[in-house]
Amino acid sequence: MSVHPLTREECLALDAADPLAHFRAEFTLPEGLIYLDGNSLGALPVRTSARVRELVEVEWGQELIKSWNDAGWFRLPHTLGARVAPLLGAAPGQLVVCDTTSVNLFKVLSAALRLRPGRGTVLAERAAFPTDLYIVEGVTSLAKGSRLELLDHADRLDDLLDEGVAAVVLSHVDYRTGELLDMPGITRRVQAAGALMIWDVCHSVAALPIELDASGVDFAVGCTYKYLNGGPGSPAFLYVAERHLATAAQPLSGWFGHARPFAFEPGYEPLDGIGRFLTSSPSMLGQAALGASLDVWEKADLATVRAKSLALTDLFVSLVEQLDGIEVVTPREHERRGSQIALRHSDGYPVVQALIARGVVGDFRAPDLMRFGFTPLYLSYTEVWDAARHLAEVLESGEWRDERFNRRGEVT
Ligand SMILES: *Cc1c(COP(=O)(O)O)cnc(C)c1O
Repeated sequence: MSVHPLTREECLALDAADPLAHFRAEFTLPEGLIYLDGNSLGALPVRTSARVRELVEVEWGQELIKSWNDAGWFRLPHTLGARVAPLLGAAPGQLVVCDTTSVNLFKVLSAALRLRPGRGTVLAERAAFPTDLYIVEGVTSLAKGSRLELLDHADRLDDLLDEGVAAVVLSHVDYRTGELLDMPGITRRVQAAGALMIWDVCHSVAALPIELDASGVDFAVGCTYKYLNGGPGSPAFLYVAERHLATAAQPLSGWFGHARPFAFEPGYEPLDGIGRFLTSSPSMLGQAALGASLDVWEKADLATVRAKSLALTDLFVSLVEQLDGIEVVTPREHERRGSQIALRHSDGYPVVQALIARGVVGDFRAPDLMRFGFTPLYLSYTEVWDAARHLAEVLESGEWRDERFNRRGEVT
């Protein structure tokens, strides 16, 4: 695909006709900043500050312990799960919001292994987001006879998918390259081999429509601080398909997953339904912030978001693909692309730092990938045009060679 690059005037016209343009006012962003990192940490919704203040000053400060019942704190992992469900194509009762993606993967993978006795292999991609691999290592170190086997790419699944495989863990969108995998097709192949399918949707939730139920997915996990704008460290979610809920058991059997937590009985007995995947007291600050961002998402149509995301990423690619030293790594086909563009450049780190100094925020993933995330609710066509212009100028001027752009911080 090679599209004739648009002019800045054409971008201004697209912004004027953009059905999502009014969402920009829902977000607090520094004046003049072009934020292309919403795939790492989503922007702050305006309403979040007031909601968090209300939680702190009223629900906690004034109402104190009563809020567990009266403000709905106790039910919030379920209430928020039901609100995230439509973004994932999930019928109610299969989702809770709790803990982190890593912890939730630990729980669902442990449950999956227990549902496949006699099988011990867990397949995952070598290039997966490393925490997912680390958690698979941790789970398989505890489950006798189980082990992690690495795939070079999801394309090679059929080479390794035999009767020893209990579960397959894959990211729907690759965090580095932005490649989108075929969720229904892969799920079908995995299940045809008798294994269970676990999807990590961290980089696709709220970036594109997802159909967990229609795709027949067994389990899914994902975070809420990227495209969902829940805030730094906001709680993650987990999905367990209805058909597994009666038999699935997970080992982080804390009191929030107990059938009668306030009976304070010595023995564990899981709740019926998805609640058995809860472990402990949720962080109310994080849950409240996520609730505020869901207020915004509930007004947005995901198909419209997806259409604009593809238009923005097409625009960016068409503007930067000819630049010196740049290789576009993200697949060109729409059905294989998430909502980010990864560009390879041998000096990606200082180039990204030079862009940040110009007010264009992307990020860098070792060894040589520059990542740019596209968030249609708060990004305009004109900003994308300007960002591409800045990248061209940084490369043409060689300003990235400046020593101050070559020092690395703890978080890249
Ligand atoms: C962001 C991300 C995570 C984050 O894990 P946490 O445990 O929530 O810190 C995990 N997996 C993938 C694929 C991610 O993109």
